[in-house]
Amino acid sequence: MQLILDSTDKGIICIDTAGKCTFVNQSAQKMLERTEKELLGKEIIKLMCQAKPDGQCLPLHDSRICSLFLTGQGCTVDDEQMYRENGSSFPVEYSSYPIKNNGNIEGAVITFSDISERKRAENRLYHLANYDDLTELPNRHLFLDRLRQAITRTKRHKNQMALVVLDLDQFKKINETLGHEAGDHVLQEVSLRLSDCLRKCDSIARLSSDIFAIILENITKTDDIHQIVKKLLENISKPFHLTNHEIYITSSAGISIYPTDGTEISILQRNAEAAMYKAKEEGRNSYQFYKIEMNEKSYQRMMLENSLRLALDRDEFLLHYQPQVDLKTGKIFGAEALLRWQHPKLGLVSPADFIPTLEETDLIIPVGKWVLKTACQQAKNWHSNGLGKDLRISVNLSSRQFVRPGIVDTIRKVIQDAVISPHLLEVEITESTIMHNIQVTIESLKAISAMGVRVAIDDFGIGYSSLAYLKRFPIDTLKIDRAFIRDLTIDPDDEAITSLIVAMARSLKLSVIAEGVETNKQLLFLKDTGCDHIQGFLFSKPVPEDKFIKLLQDDHRLSFEIEEKNSQERDYCPIS
Ligand code: C2E
Ligand code: MG
Ligand code: MG
Repeated sequence: MQLILDSTDKGIICIDTAGKCTFVNQSAQKMLERTEKELLGKEIIKLMCQAKPDGQCLPLHDSRICSLFLTGQGCTVDDEQMYRENGSSFPVEYSSYPIKNNGNIEGAVITFSDISERKRAENRLYHLANYDDLTELPNRHLFLDRLRQAITRTKRHKNQMALVVLDLDQFKKINETLGHEAGDHVLQEVSLRLSDCLRKCDSIARLSSDIFAIILENITKTDDIHQIVKKLLENISKPFHLTNHEIYITSSAGISIYPTDGTEISILQRNAEAAMYKAKEEGRNSYQFYKIEMNEKSYQRMMLENSLRLALDRDEFLLHYQPQVDLKTGKIFGAEALLRWQHPKLGLVSPADFIPTLEETDLIIPVGKWVLKTACQQAKNWHSNGLGKDLRISVNLSSRQFVRPGIVDTIRKVIQDAVISPHLLEVEITESTIMHNIQVTIESLKAISAMGVRVAIDDFGIGYSSLAYLKRFPIDTLKIDRAFIRDLTIDPDDEAITSLIVAMARSLKLSVIAEGVETNKQLLFLKDTGCDHIQGFLFSKPVPEDKFIKLLQDDHRLSFEIEEKNSQERDYCPIS
């Protein structure tokens, strides 16, 4: 019996009715870093503590814990931990069962495990979902949450607050002339300089590439805002020392005030942005408070919207194809169709720059249909020409396509018209698309899946939803997000998360593909982990149709000695 209890990796402790330890197995001794002698007779609550949000641990005094153990109701609370001999502690998950003799409770058995690894992975996931990787500042998601809270507080205290949107002037030039590494360095330094100017009650976030947002709470007079924003701009205009270079940059800021300029998040944001564009127009390195007549930004958006409306008729959209490779054979087994816009003046535009507008204007419905149709017909052509008979085509769908009725019929028709086997089409959706409107999405996904079309979860891992939950959906493939792949072989947490996703996917019999593979090291790690498929610049960036056909014709295969590719390599020039 002792042997069995000692061979499990779970900690096991028995207590008597006074809560004193009467038995500890070897795993428990190891985890608590104490000998059996030190533990026997010790009160269980003296081994436990509670973690506070600031990271400190407080001893437990509540003797009710012991009676909960004795009735078998002891269960894990999020912040409970156990002490080691040296005073350090670790998070635990535990359960308890009463020990009964003729119906009388004589003690309890408590089993527990150290969940430090899992907690670390959870924290990492939380960080990824809420913070910007480059600057460590809150991202747009967390920012919106903070803005919401700030508005509620300001409303309650009948105060004023300001939203500042700040954009670096001509930042694109730094990236173009000095490279992205220099650009990244400047962004990190800017984040520090901005944070330095703020008071304790203010908060800052990076909204996108070179746009930052700052919330100034507890504003009693406008002069306070002038002082802070002047300081922000001054700090940025000081020289930046890069290797071999000293550069100067400036920034422009726009300010909207709650409640004068708006009481809703979207309006405050839009007005601060309009003011920021006005500041740029006025000659940069300056700031502007919002005024009603500022509608520059909405004008720009209207222009983008108008040209997007014409783009479909003018045949300006095209698809690029990125090969997906089987790690066992090294062969291309599929392609992801990625939308590009050939703008008459701007050149090839990235989807990141126009898909949000397509979604906001519902233009994503006709354009999405066009993508599905073109991709399926393309796949049919390849099959008919004897190129990759079983080549699979993946198409991205956005959440708006699920909110509007008709997606199932569209897919059915597209497959029929192209005369391809449904299992050769895979639709990619993100976790947030599912969560956006669970009921409608799940019904559509079930119908799509029943047709035989495959379903993949794109950018998996950053959406903060559990796989156990996703199990309820008809899913065939998980695409591990690039954020985890990028730091493989550098960041042990990302390695742990990737291995975990691969293992879980395998146990649920899902196919798994790693996105954004750029180096041989990442490739080898993924191969060792048992990942099935990869997609990334290491093998090929997304390419136009003719280049993709060439890859197929040449039977281009994955070699484990491929030269590493430059991670900045892209097939379009970003417009912002
Ligand atoms: P996604 O579906 O996750 O597509 C993968 C993105 O990762 C592509 O960016 C691809 O170029 C990029 N990528 C692939 N391998 C690597 C690599 O090794 N390193 C790096 N740094 N990047 C890599 P792209 O083409 O800019 O597309 C961005 C996103 O736009 C897509 O992300 C997808 O969410 C969306 N998108 C593209 N086409 C469509 C479409 O037809 N419909 C919808 N709704 N969304 C689309
Ligand atoms: Mg995708
Ligand atoms: Mg992706």
